[in-house]
Amino acid sequence: MTNEKRNTEVVHSFKCPSCKDGIIDIIKSIYDLPDGDKMLIIKFECNTCNFNKNDIIPLTTNLEPGIMTLQILDEDDLKSKIYRSPTGKLEIPELELIVEPGPRADFYYTNVQGILFRFESAVSIYRNNLEENDQEKSEIDELLVDLNQAIEGKFDFTLKITDLQGGSYIIPQDKSKYTFEKIVKKDLE
Ligand SMILES: [Zn+2]
Repeated sequence: MTNEKRNTEVVHSFKCPSCKDGIIDIIKSIYDLPDGDKMLIIKFECNTCNFNKNDIIPLTTNLEPGIMTLQILDEDDLKSKIYRSPTGKLEIPELELIVEPGPRADFYYTNVQGILFRFESAVSIYRNNLEENDQEKSEIDELLVDLNQAIEGKFDFTLKITDLQGGSYIIPQDKSKYTFEKIVKKDLE
């Protein structure tokens, strides 16, 4: 794992605006994805309080079309980074949650937990718009229970992105839980 992050360097340091005590280092590192692409990761980290921020910028655009699958089995897996391009379809089969590709859909540029929060908020809005006696309400309530368990890392699930154009990516916390299945162009025709 040591040669996966290279060129890690502190590019700037400044006083932490959060605790006013610590020093924040801006750390830049290049991450090599298993399929040869590169990602630039910019990290802000305070050495005193827990103020931190991460940004990921794709450095290469030749990401291949494929199906990315990540098993989420514990709390740490929730920190895996996700970028869903507009051509990517994102699914959590165990919860029957789907984000269809499309120009209207948001770019999901977050981690797994961030995606769960977005689903939770969308599902809650949907529920609140149902009639009081709607039978669907109890189903939605069960889904919300599972979603909240998932947010706390207590519900195992699969996160799947199918991207026929390429451009979406997952950076897993634990590589052994990640698989990438390449889609050969001629299969699409
Ligand atoms: Zn601080």
